[in-house]
Amino acid sequence: MDYTPREIIASLRAEMVDRVLKSNTMWLCTSCYLCTVRCPAGIKITDFMYELKRLAIEYGLGEHQGAAILAKTFVELVNKYGRIPEMKLMATYGMKTSKTKPGKLLSQAMLGLKLFRRGRLPLGVETIKGVEDLHKIDRWLVSKKMEPNLVERSKGGEK
Ligand code: SF4
Repeated sequence: MDYTPREIIASLRAEMVDRVLKSNTMWLCTSCYLCTVRCPAGIKITDFMYELKRLAIEYGLGEHQGAAILAKTFVELVNKYGRIPEMKLMATYGMKTSKTKPGKLLSQAMLGLKLFRRGRLPLGVETIKGVEDLHKIDRWLVSKKMEPNLVERSKGGEK
């Protein structure tokens, strides 16, 4: 992590938003809620991390972060198929990151092969029944301003 949650809060209070949104901190947050539970000031830091991810995508920052690329790819695939086809996730992530990290695609391919040999990586890509209903729920959440449509935002479209 570039900064601890304490440093993130301090940076934002010092109006260093750019620095915060370009950091990898929120992308490495695993939502364990430890900081939220222990924060003496009662700050919901985990929720804060989600908001920082949303803002980083909205402003096109943090695009170089592997975790950001993985998160966006995850959302794109869920929007398309209604579930995560693991093989496609690994391949897409490997291709997207191979521009900045040339060895990434090969390491993803090797990992995929290992998982496949052990029967842990199905090859097929199935779309769930009623994926359109999932899109309707997504649009409804966006209309209620309850949930950002990350895919649309990442494409610079609907907000
Ligand atoms: S929720 Fe967990 S991983 Fe995320 S910032 Fe807090 S302590 Fe770190």
